[in-house]
Amino acid sequence: MSDTRLNDLIESLRCLPGIGRKSAQRIAYHLLQRNRDGARNLSRSLLDAMDNIGHCERCRTFSEEPVCHLCQSNKRDRSLLCVVESPADVYAVEEAGYKGLYFVLMGRLSPLDGIGPEDLGLSKLGSLLDEGEIEEVILATNSTVEGEATAHFISEMVRKRSMKVTRIAHGVPMGGELEYVDSRTLSEALSGRREV
Ligand code: ZN
Repeated sequence: MSDTRLNDLIESLRCLPGIGRKSAQRIAYHLLQRNRDGARNLSRSLLDAMDNIGHCERCRTFSEEPVCHLCQSNKRDRSLLCVVESPADVYAVEEAGYKGLYFVLMGRLSPLDGIGPEDLGLSKLGSLLDEGEIEEVILATNSTVEGEATAHFISEMVRKRSMKVTRIAHGVPMGGELEYVDSRTLSEALSGRREV
């Protein structure tokens, strides 16, 4: 009986990124032996987060409200829309001092993994652009091959609507993920953005 529970725990832990069977076993033993309170707390937080955190209806980032606090704020420049791959990138761009709005793709185009425009909410992005409030779309996808392909695809969407579209400047290292770039470099990359 208890063996089944232990096995279930170990198997469940393997959903964590980078955790294989050995590591899962180590974590399970550690929690059982040394930190049952921490583990109970973790399981409550996990359940609560999974049940109550959704996606913002406008920008797709994680949000507990239907529309996130950034999209609701009247202190943001609503003529600017910065397109990023992940909520972690929103955090990085915020740190760099950006004051506009965001659109979070929650991924990047990747035909080999079966990730297409619909998975990135690009029709929703299209309707945002059609609302007429946005004047410039800043492409801040990562400078990986897939990030560049995604930026190219979106730039075509924006250009079709005769709107201004810019790409953050070099300085963000090739293959670099935005969330690991320091805020000064990212701030320079934003202010040095070029029309594409
Ligand atoms: Zn939002």
